[in-house]
Amino acid sequence: MDLYEYQGKQLFRQFGIPVSDGELVADAADARRATQELGGGPVVVKAQVLTGGRGKAGGIKLAASPDEAEARAREILGLDIRGHVVRKLWVERASEIAKEYYLSLAFDRGEKKPLFMLTTEGGVEIEEVAAEKPDALVRLHVDPLEGFQPYMARRLIYGAGIDDPEEQKQIADIVGRLYRAFVECDAMLCEINPLIVTPEGGVRALDSKFTVDDNALYKHPDIAEMRDTAGADPQEAIAREKGVTYVKLDGEIGVLGNGAGLVMSTLDVIALAGGRPANFCDLGGGGGAQGVVDALEVITSDPQVKALLFNVFGGITRCDEVARGILAALDQMKIELPVVVRLDGTNAEEGLRLLAQAAPPNLHVEPTMLDAARRAVELAR
Ligand code: GDP
Ligand code: MN
Repeated sequence: MDLYEYQGKQLFRQFGIPVSDGELVADAADARRATQELGGGPVVVKAQVLTGGRGKAGGIKLAASPDEAEARAREILGLDIRGHVVRKLWVERASEIAKEYYLSLAFDRGEKKPLFMLTTEGGVEIEEVAAEKPDALVRLHVDPLEGFQPYMARRLIYGAGIDDPEEQKQIADIVGRLYRAFVECDAMLCEINPLIVTPEGGVRALDSKFTVDDNALYKHPDIAEMRDTAGADPQEAIAREKGVTYVKLDGEIGVLGNGAGLVMSTLDVIALAGGRPANFCDLGGGGGAQGVVDALEVITSDPQVKALLFNVFGGITRCDEVARGILAALDQMKIELPVVVRLDGTNAEEGLRLLAQAAPPNLHVEPTMLDAARRAVELAR
C-alpha cells in the first residue's frame, strides 16, 4: 500500500524524522486559511497524488501569501498528473533550500535485505543519478539479523562525501530513525527525495514516498486506515470489500480462474489467441457459488469488458460448484455479455452437465483452455 506524501510525513514525524508543519486541504479557500494558520506564508502547495514527479507536472507551487496560496490551490486542484486527478493538497511551511540530498531504504529482493541509498545528488529521479553518476550513489545493505548499527550511517555519509560535521550528525540520526520506521511499519520502501539542508544548516525531509507491505497491514490498523478508498480504482475498491483478488488490465476480456498459476497462463493464452485481458479475478481454492457471483460482479462492473472467460481446473474447487455459481450469477445479474467456460478436473462432468441443462444463450462451453481463449477473443470483437 502506497501512502500519500502527507501520510508518510506523519509517520516520519512519529519516528522523529524532521519534517515541516503543514495542513491537508481539499479546496482553495481552505488553502488560504491553512496559509494564515501557518504564519501567512511563504508556503508550498503540494498535490497529493500517488505518483512521483509532481513538481515537473505543475503539482507543486510556492506561494508567498494566503491570496497566492488560494490561487495556486485553484490551479493545482483537478489537475491530472499521469492519470491521477488531484483532490487534496498539502500546504506546508516553505523551506529555504541550500542543498538537496536523497536518502532511501528499500527491500532488495535479490539480496533479501533492506538496502540504504544515499547521494548528495538529490531532487531528481534516483534512476537518473544511478544512470548518469553511479559513483555518487552509495548503497549499503543491512543484515536483518545484525540489525541497524551506527557505523552503517557513518559509512553511508562518508561514502556520499558529506563532510560538514553538523550535517553528518543530523543525517546519521535520520538514517537510524528511518530504519526504525521501515522495520516497525513493515515498509517496503521509505524514500526521502529531497532530504534538504537549509541555509542555516538544518536537515529535513521535504518529500516522502512510503510503501507498506499489504500483508502486514493487519498489524497496523492505524496505517490500514490511511487507505483512501475514494482515490482508488472503483473496481478494486469493490473487490477489496468483497474479499476478491482482482487486478485491472487494459484489454477487453474479463478473466476468472482459480489459482494464480492458472490465471497467469490464461492471460498468456489470450495473448496467443490475439486478444487482451481486461482484468482478472482469482477465485482461489474456494470457488463456491457465492464466490463466483462476487467475482463476476467485480469483473462485469468494468465497462471495458466485452466477453468473459472462465478457466477452472477443479482440485479442491469442485467444477459443479463453479457451474452452479455461474448459472446463479447469470440468473441474478442479468449478464448479457458472452461467457466462455472451460471446466476440467474434480466433478467436471457434473459441472458440464449442469451448464448443458441450463444452456443460457450467451454461454459457450469449450473443451480446452486454448479453444476457450480463441472463442472469447472472437466474441469480444
Ligand atoms: P515530487 O516532484 O513529486 O518529487 O515532489 P517534491 O515534494 O520532491 O517537490 C519537488 C521539488 O519542489 C523539490 O525537489 C524542491 O525543489 C521543490 N520544493 C518542494 N518543497 C519546497 C519548499 O518548501 N521550498 C522550496 N524552495 N522548494 C520546494
Ligand atoms: Mn520528491
